[in-house]
Amino acid sequence: MTHTLQGRPDIPLAAVLEFVHRQYGLAGALSPLPAFTDQNVLLDCGGTGRYVVKIASRDEDPAALDLQNAALEILARDWSAAGIPWVIKSTGGESICTILDGDGRAYAARVLTYLPGTLLAAVAERSESTLEQIGQALGELDLCLSKFEHPAMDREHRWDPRQAQWLTGATQLIPDIGQRGIVERFLVQYRGRVVPIVDDLPLSGIHNDANEENLLLDRDGDGDWRMTGLLDFGDILRTYTVNELAVACAYAILGKDKPLAVAASITAGYHRARPLSGTEIKVLFPLICLRLCISVTKSAMAVKEDPQNEHRRISEQAAWEMLARLEELDWLVVETRLRQACGLEPRFRERPALSSVQLLEERRKLLGSGLTLAYETPLEIVRGRGQYLFTPDGRAWLDGVNNVCHVGHSHPRVVAALSQQAARVNSNTRYLHPLRVAYARRLTATFPAPLRVCYFVNSGSEANELAVRLARAYTGRWDVMVMEDGYHGNTGMLVNMSPYKCEERGGQSLPEWAHKVPKPDPYRGVYQGYSKESGRAYAAHVREVCEHLAVEGRPPALFMCESIQGCGGQVVFPEEYLQEAFHHVRAAGGICIVDEVQVGLGRVGSHMWAFETQGVVPDVVTLGKPLGNGHPLGAVVTTREIARAFDDGMEFFSSFGGNPVSMAVGLAVLDVIEAEGLRAHATRVGEYLARGFRDLGKRRRLIGDVRGLGLFLGVELVRDRDTMEPATRATSRLIELVKADGILLSAEGPHHNVLKIKPPLPFTVNDADLMLGAVERALATDLR
Ligand code: PMP
Repeated sequence: MTHTLQGRPDIPLAAVLEFVHRQYGLAGALSPLPAFTDQNVLLDCGGTGRYVVKIASRDEDPAALDLQNAALEILARDWSAAGIPWVIKSTGGESICTILDGDGRAYAARVLTYLPGTLLAAVAERSESTLEQIGQALGELDLCLSKFEHPAMDREHRWDPRQAQWLTGATQLIPDIGQRGIVERFLVQYRGRVVPIVDDLPLSGIHNDANEENLLLDRDGDGDWRMTGLLDFGDILRTYTVNELAVACAYAILGKDKPLAVAASITAGYHRARPLSGTEIKVLFPLICLRLCISVTKSAMAVKEDPQNEHRRISEQAAWEMLARLEELDWLVVETRLRQACGLEPRFRERPALSSVQLLEERRKLLGSGLTLAYETPLEIVRGRGQYLFTPDGRAWLDGVNNVCHVGHSHPRVVAALSQQAARVNSNTRYLHPLRVAYARRLTATFPAPLRVCYFVNSGSEANELAVRLARAYTGRWDVMVMEDGYHGNTGMLVNMSPYKCEERGGQSLPEWAHKVPKPDPYRGVYQGYSKESGRAYAAHVREVCEHLAVEGRPPALFMCESIQGCGGQVVFPEEYLQEAFHHVRAAGGICIVDEVQVGLGRVGSHMWAFETQGVVPDVVTLGKPLGNGHPLGAVVTTREIARAFDDGMEFFSSFGGNPVSMAVGLAVLDVIEAEGLRAHATRVGEYLARGFRDLGKRRRLIGDVRGLGLFLGVELVRDRDTMEPATRATSRLIELVKADGILLSAEGPHHNVLKIKPPLPFTVNDADLMLGAVERALATDLR
């Protein structure tokens, strides 16, 4: 399937004039028209009509010209939705004649009627009804061609999605590495998710090139644009019928702010004429992307082959920009949207045995009443994919808070690792298993020395319990130091050393063995700002508590805190705080435990672990939530010295901790973070989102502070920026309002006035825009 442009005709207009006169008895004014590989000439015969003389490249298979003519004949008879060029026969009755160039080389030439109208490319105002009508006309066209047969229909063609395998070998022609990556990542997805189901797609002859330069429009009686003509049947062949629609969408969305809305309108119209099957809708979005990938890759080839031909590269820049945007969209979410456009139920609509109301009643009867539910009207979540959750009605909800499903809900790679290992064996740490050491090696390698030893447990709480035991065993002391508003877990001991719990409703305040240091809050605390001075001033309180405990004869075993405080209100510490605090604790003989249950595993983007942003190396680190992407997996990472001190003869055993299924899951999560570049992504999207909230803060005084790192952000809402009075009620109102827009957020902090934003890491810039838009709309209402 080599493609050279040596065969492109370049016949002088005078020779063309002589040709049409001799063969067709036509005369008039000639002017060149843009073309891809052919030579097209407009022949204006004044009052007797206008024609296009199409001189085919010598590379064109004559059978393909015959194929075009045969299809045009069928459509002239059966397709009434829009006009097509008619093939004019020569005076000798031929549909295809021969024209010679100056060197005597022969080219196949045809004369077609010229269609009047405005190219879609030149129509800026495209209403929903215009787009739907275009879709409908194409659907009707495909119905007309559904039974069309011709010997050349299965010809080789690079624009055929059934033959797109050549793309894989051609991506290296794309000079920009970032752009090449977009195409390569797409092809991996396409092979994995589309190729296995293509046998379910209907095939038929299609026009295969309904791009903006081939669609002609005119205004109807109401002034609305309507498709009135379709040009250029040069790409006609047999392929997936739905590719007709995909091609039309691929070009119509270029340069558009709301590409999905455009694609949805065209699809709705097409579906009205030619109902799409479930599989066709499923592959539509990937086929749109594939078309753009073919286009940009062919452009890269065109630059090499023929740097002069601008027409070939016409849509390249817009296509790259669109591909970068489309890459951010979740396929399932797009599919849902397109199904909605066709009036179809979401593919995965669940038929629940119980209604949500019944579920609630049953839950009240069967589960402990202390469990709370989010939102005034609770959500029943039955599916998840990427950063989206789905209710039984198939509605997609953007998840802004789940830092457990770190690499995306139900990530296929993690699910596969889990189920494959579950199908093999699950056992415990009393047997050897290669996955356990493999995971321990991978996990510890992400930590600075001397943090080299792992314990595996099943939750963040268990990890923190164990961390306290390690510290007590190592120091021979009992007392603990924790941070104001800190939370470390749900066990009896941890609740008592979590001020966020024990000092709030239902709590019994800190026991005599637990001691609190002030939260180093640069916004609301006694020392303001992120400077070293502020960090040191807060750390001085750690020293004070240590000294006080020494005087009391109960020096601390440990100081435990998060690296960025989560439950306490998404608080990022001032510079040098942890360095100084650790210095004081260690000087007092205690060890330093960092709880990375919420903030760890690359969420902050710049580093794998949030403590690294403070330039410290803790003695023990506890891990949970994101490690298993929703599968219960926790860990404690510490030094060999501390682990040895804990080994006092009593066995440490967790029935589930370190089981091979969990290890397979943990490994898959690490793989995905690397393969999908999620840390760099978190940095980029997190900065974008934080900037968006800061801009919003310039317009809306309710926003008192925006803080965080990577995709761990807090937006603090205040009634008054001077008094910093927390806007607690407004925060919960706002959360309900953005929920109505399909965005899930939640509140944190002792005053419940901090929006916590910690979505699954695949969260995109598009998602950020959705969230910012919803929050802005909510802020524009009366939130009191
Ligand atoms: N530490 C922190 C900082 C947490 O946020 C949590 C849970 N919210 C835990 C520990 C306890 O983890 P788990 O719920 O897995 O026991």
